[in-house]
Amino acid sequence: MLHILQKTFKGGIHPPENKDISAAKPIERLPLPGYVVIPLQQHIGKLSEALVQAGDDVVTGQPVSKASGFVSLPSHSSISGKVKSIESFPHPLGQKVPSVIIEGDGEDRMSEQIKFQADYMSLPPDEMKRRITEAGIAGMGGATFPTHVKLSPPQDKPIDTVILNGAECEPYLTADHRLMIEHTEEIVEGFRIILRILGVSRGIIAIEKNKPDAIFLFEKFTKDDPNLELLPLKVKYPQGAEKQLIFASTGRRVPAGKLPMEVRCLVHNVGTAKAIYEAVAYQKPLIERVVTVTGAVKEPKNIRARIGTPLRNLIEFCGGFVGTPGKVIMGGPMMGVAQYTIDVPVIKGTSGVVVLPSEQVREMRLQPCINCGRCVKVCPMNIMPNLAATYIENNLWEEAKSAGALDCMECGSCGYVCPAGRNILHNIRFGKFMILEQEKASKN
Ligand code: SF4
Ligand code: SF4
Repeated sequence: MLHILQKTFKGGIHPPENKDISAAKPIERLPLPGYVVIPLQQHIGKLSEALVQAGDDVVTGQPVSKASGFVSLPSHSSISGKVKSIESFPHPLGQKVPSVIIEGDGEDRMSEQIKFQADYMSLPPDEMKRRITEAGIAGMGGATFPTHVKLSPPQDKPIDTVILNGAECEPYLTADHRLMIEHTEEIVEGFRIILRILGVSRGIIAIEKNKPDAIFLFEKFTKDDPNLELLPLKVKYPQGAEKQLIFASTGRRVPAGKLPMEVRCLVHNVGTAKAIYEAVAYQKPLIERVVTVTGAVKEPKNIRARIGTPLRNLIEFCGGFVGTPGKVIMGGPMMGVAQYTIDVPVIKGTSGVVVLPSEQVREMRLQPCINCGRCVKVCPMNIMPNLAATYIENNLWEEAKSAGALDCMECGSCGYVCPAGRNILHNIRFGKFMILEQEKASKN
């Protein structure tokens, strides 16, 4: 069923989309890298435990680490070759992380476990979930929460609606858009697997209106399925954030500090749905993903890259930088993380690499707050960002908490509209860290 009305949420902003740079570029496969760096932490949760050591021969798809608890994930070799070392290596989220470094043999010898099973949809839900767990799938929209955990809600929190997130509201990024038009059927199958595992009969496919070709294809492949609804969304940032998406799709509000299951909903990204399909139908682990490489590079592209490939290879595949880069961001410009080296690897949550030219990177000239209220108007979480940031600047942690700092989803909308150039998000991030540290200290 196709909904006609465009749904949305309160607040938010309309930054220039800049998606036309790469939206029409079909996904291209990156040549195999000479080596890969597989961090033992690519997900929210506990670090995984290495299963290999230097000198071991590995094939593509072989586990190189195992989960170290329920909220943890295994990782897999994304090429065949030899383990060179296990060492601390720069990670795109900032710190150094123990990583398995594998030198490729150029042969891409595949694990024999990866093969198609035609009757995959008749597998018992527990077996489907086991395959997803073994495949090491983390949320591929960037959140990187282990997918098998999301698919295991507690018994007292029944789910009645699952939302497939095709919003891709971050400026510049088009990886999900390309995936939706080039792999529609696999994504729909992955979504049906999710519904089957959860025993849920209502699935909503939510796509922003700026992707009419994707909406057309999903309508074509789902119109006869009574369990699936197609919902075009108004184009607005951060439309793809979980709580905003749930409100726009169902009218339900997730309470502050609570998870979507509180309102009987779950959200999965379209890339995750495709990975779920491959895990269940092929027993294929998560060893590659689509990454948009765009901005100040000679030829912006959507690239299918093996996990662990250095960002440098992707940028070179796009012809290199145009001029001197001002900033290289992993993810989108609103919520992404600026990189200090392009030797960091593609990880499971790498949706894009955005290169901003130096003239677009403005120097922060901090001015006092002029109480214009713009940040309050755009905050999708109903926080008063000006107040929370001021408390944090003055080390008033309890007051900052009362002002809602812990509910901040770090969308960056407040800083984007602030005429005083205040780095509100940076302050609030720091404040959240300090509030949680204080709470930990008071418990000990
Ligand atoms: S306070 Fe947090 S949630 Fe609100 S606009 Fe700023 S970054 Fe977004
Ligand atoms: S937008 Fe900036 S100047 Fe305006 S109230 Fe918020 S923090 Fe103050």
